[in-house]
Amino acid sequence: MPEWKEVLDEAGRYAVRYLEGLPARPVGSNATLESLRAALDLPLPAQGTDPREVIAELARHADPGVVASSSGRFFGFVIGGATPAALAADWLTSVWDQNAGLYVLGPAAAVVEDVAARWLATLLGLPAGVSAGFVTGAQMANLTGLAIGLGSVLGRAGWNVAADGLWGAPRVRVLAGQGRHGTIDRALRFLGAGTGSIVEVGMDDQGRMRPAELRTALAAGSGPAIVCAQAGNVNSGAFDPVGEICDLAHADGAWVHVDGAFGLWAAASPRLRHLVAGVERADSWATDAHKWLNVPYDSGLVFCADPVAHRTAMGTRAGYLIHGAEGERDALDYGPEHSRRARGFAVYAAIRALGSDGVADLVERCCDLAARFAERLTASGRATILGEVVLNQVLVRFADDHVTRSVIEKVQREGTCWMSGTTWRGQAAMRISVSNWSTTPQDVDRSVAAILRCL
Ligand SMILES: *Cc1c(COP(=O)(O)O)cnc(C)c1O
Repeated sequence: MPEWKEVLDEAGRYAVRYLEGLPARPVGSNATLESLRAALDLPLPAQGTDPREVIAELARHADPGVVASSSGRFFGFVIGGATPAALAADWLTSVWDQNAGLYVLGPAAAVVEDVAARWLATLLGLPAGVSAGFVTGAQMANLTGLAIGLGSVLGRAGWNVAADGLWGAPRVRVLAGQGRHGTIDRALRFLGAGTGSIVEVGMDDQGRMRPAELRTALAAGSGPAIVCAQAGNVNSGAFDPVGEICDLAHADGAWVHVDGAFGLWAAASPRLRHLVAGVERADSWATDAHKWLNVPYDSGLVFCADPVAHRTAMGTRAGYLIHGAEGERDALDYGPEHSRRARGFAVYAAIRALGSDGVADLVERCCDLAARFAERLTASGRATILGEVVLNQVLVRFADDHVTRSVIEKVQREGTCWMSGTTWRGQAAMRISVSNWSTTPQDVDRSVAAILRCL
């Protein structure tokens, strides 16, 4: 028998030290590629090593190259940390090591996914009875939503894409906003539709799709179409007017897919829900649990208003598999993977520990802290906020492009906090995303002070 207790205790001791040390640890990693290679790049060992020693050394050698992205002062990209319940449930997921593709291989995993899916639909304001897939992230959620949409609009045009593919099929137009996330383009590449199928619809100065332009674009063509709306622009946090988009698209027989990787979580807050008004009228939705719900990676979610279309696009059957009976969820019917981790446990635990009030509070707190960033930086008289702060994202510009980029670089090295940069409407900007459950007003104030020091 292996020494379960000793090897898990070794990992557990390190984990607690790491997590308790997060507030004091520099947020970015200043380890060099050379130093990490020197510590980790061993020749392939011919002989094994005691697992306790493997874990102790892995922790020691990897630690300097670990980015404290679960720290309350990490504001790069849109990341989020891990709540205690979600992290511990994720550990159990590894202990149980279920292959969650089939009901028969993990009945508890399947039931927990069903329950979590129902909770999520309520939290996110989606119609009751939506089908759900637990995927790696919004990239795969977008791919799944678009695959279902393609199958569905082509089916209505008399074409069976599952059997006959896209060669010779009626051309499907994909109308998507100029401010869409790159994962939409990438999903279309993977699906064989290609980025050439995109009809770009102009956005306004906040990054929102212009519905008048969508109306014109829809009228300018014919045949099967998919409209991609976005809830939460990755730079500005802005929302496409999704209700209006659904009405226009449906009047034209188009499928509506919503990329709401983080923005869809606005629906969980009574105060912010208006930002996604009408979102329940879409056909498919993509979001992440590993961003704003603060579940460990990887955890993305796709939902569909038409469970039959969902299973038709993604499902699979094989003689050697045992498929679930009525009511028994086979997760491989709802996503692109076959074998996979039982991702539902961590999502279930995260929501149960927070409750719907706690999720609303998490989302609202992050938005309040984003507003605090904007206020404090503006008050310094040395920074400009680009666009409106409508959610948890803040775009900050200092004197010019050069100064802005140098401040971002300096802040990343200085270690108090970590922000990434972007180009917004032709100008360099620092991008601040507040999406961690543990961020406090003090974290924001310390970070503002660090930014101004670097400036
Ligand atoms: C983060 C993000 C994605 C991609 O999500 P992953 O979880 O990284 O796959 C897609 N769309 C938007 C708007 C995002 O913010």
